[in-house]
Amino acid sequence: MKNPFYPDERRRGITEIDPAALAARGIRGIILDVDNTLTTHDNPHPAPGVLEWLEKARGAGLRLIILSNNRPERVSPFAGMLGLAFEADGKKPLPGGFLRACAHMDLSPRETAAVGDQIFTDVIGARLAGVFCLMVDPIEPEPGWFFRLKRRLERPILRAYERRKPQ
Ligand SMILES: [Mg+2]
Repeated sequence: MKNPFYPDERRRGITEIDPAALAARGIRGIILDVDNTLTTHDNPHPAPGVLEWLEKARGAGLRLIILSNNRPERVSPFAGMLGLAFEADGKKPLPGGFLRACAHMDLSPRETAAVGDQIFTDVIGARLAGVFCLMVDPIEPEPGWFFRLKRRLERPILRAYERRKPQ
């Protein structure tokens, strides 16, 4: 069984994910996190390169949907600007949001990948839902004790994950 704390793959950022390579391995849709994956927290504009990357993903025939734990007031305008469907208040790491997102794209979890920047929400949720899991580095460090705690707890897990490779 796969380790629930480990992503399938890591990238420095979303623009380093190759949509055509995902499509070639049978992935037909991607569930996208927002904060620190597509843009920084509370930023209404996508990070540099994200618009071009979304076009590349669409060009590779991939369906796309946003799944965020953030509120609809935050997620809806952002998703609307990018022309993406969305699920807000996603309650990650519970798998329900991931499964709803798959259903929305009319895909099974096996045909779906998820991209996000946090182990304790994105990675665990993707694992529980059975979708292919890509973890990206957060675009920028977050303020606040809760985020600092989560990042601190991620560090030894990611170190162990990196040591484990190559299998
Ligand atoms: Mg995030």
